[in-house]
Amino acid sequence: GIEASLRRIAHYDYWTDSIRKSILIDAKADFLLYGMAEYSTLALAGCLQKKASPENLPGLCYLARDVPESALLLPSFYEVGDKKNKKKFSRMFMDFYLNNDPITAKMLAQQQDNRFLIQNPPWPAPSTAELDQIHGLDFEREVHPLDSAQGEVRAMETIRFALTTHRGCYGECNFCAIAVHQGRTVSCRSRESLIAEAKELTRHPKFKGTISDLGGPTANMYGFECEKKLTKGTCATKRCLFPSICPKMPIDHGPQITLLREIRKIKGIRKVVVASGIRYDMILADRKNGLRYLEEIVRHHISGQLKIAPEHCVDSVLACMGKPGTKDLLRFRELFFTLTAKAGLKQFLTYYIIAAHPGCRLRDMRELKKFAFRNLKLLPRQVQIFTPTPSTFSTLMYWTGRDPFTSRTCFVERNFQGREQQKEMLSIKKTAAKGHRTKNNPSGKHT
Ligand code: SF4
Repeated sequence: GIEASLRRIAHYDYWTDSIRKSILIDAKADFLLYGMAEYSTLALAGCLQKKASPENLPGLCYLARDVPESALLLPSFYEVGDKKNKKKFSRMFMDFYLNNDPITAKMLAQQQDNRFLIQNPPWPAPSTAELDQIHGLDFEREVHPLDSAQGEVRAMETIRFALTTHRGCYGECNFCAIAVHQGRTVSCRSRESLIAEAKELTRHPKFKGTISDLGGPTANMYGFECEKKLTKGTCATKRCLFPSICPKMPIDHGPQITLLREIRKIKGIRKVVVASGIRYDMILADRKNGLRYLEEIVRHHISGQLKIAPEHCVDSVLACMGKPGTKDLLRFRELFFTLTAKAGLKQFLTYYIIAAHPGCRLRDMRELKKFAFRNLKLLPRQVQIFTPTPSTFSTLMYWTGRDPFTSRTCFVERNFQGREQQKEMLSIKKTAAKGHRTKNNPSGKHT
């Protein structure tokens, strides 16, 4: 699963607060397939069946005595694990991250013990036909009997009747692991495949008429991609959305509007919810269909609250996160409430926030609190403390105390109490005690 993907080379492990070897070594396994790996699993099984070597398969990690000629040699595990010299880990991570595109990636090699971990370039991003084929399989939509025997798995309820429209994400929020797992190229399913699956859902005995989500890692990346990326690979020196949206990204919410309309017309479907995260900067950047898309969402596809993830409001913290600034957030908020009022509905925005992200001090959380009262008219309650996930830029910052993009040192709150305190800054109790009230929230309680 994703855990193996993210731990495929030397990585920072939060639980032991150290750099660990590839999980391939810890697990004493022969091969590791990273990414979503449906087709590479079949290819590996084919090789094993024929007793052929799988060592040229894309998406594969394995151990070797020697470094293949074409491989890029990374600093060894012993070098990157040195707590006194974290620059080598930082350099290694950059090379690792930049060699994740199926079109441009090189084979990587890293000495671990007396052998070399070899990471082949990724398996190509799936075509529409391949994604359709995967999602056309006859999934059970049930928890495995071994797990269900141990009690209810509540998470199943949110995904049982959810439809995946695409995979991959070029949002590249620094704390997110999707880019390293699914890649930065978005691959989409066809409308026909999604409609067929939606119809299939209506025949399921447990289906009550609601599709709980129609989306992917970022809901509004469906239906378009950068041509340059598709033919020549992702850019090594710039990002698609940060610090501003690349003009080569042909953002168009038209295909998603059409899809939503067609799915909600299907007999037996009462409601289609878009619960996956939405990039509001992309909505604002789409002059042709952005507003129409938001109107469609507001009128038909949220159940009272739309979740968005500004994560913070202080520019220096947002820069460490790779997130857009507050200008877009406030513009989006205004549009959302205008469209909600026009539709005669009572709906809200829910804001997701991260506390104790590298670069964030207590004073930044205080600033966020003031910003929230002043501009959002409430205090966000979806606040999580940053936990370093293996193989993300934010985790690199957490371990090295440096922003890898500027090479400047950045503050990292590692102390347990300090991290809790940052979260507490937005807590209801403290707010109520201080009696913060706003026009939209006269009781001082959360909405
Ligand atoms: S050209 Fe722009 S949109 Fe395309 S991959 Fe590069 S940064 Fe992303």
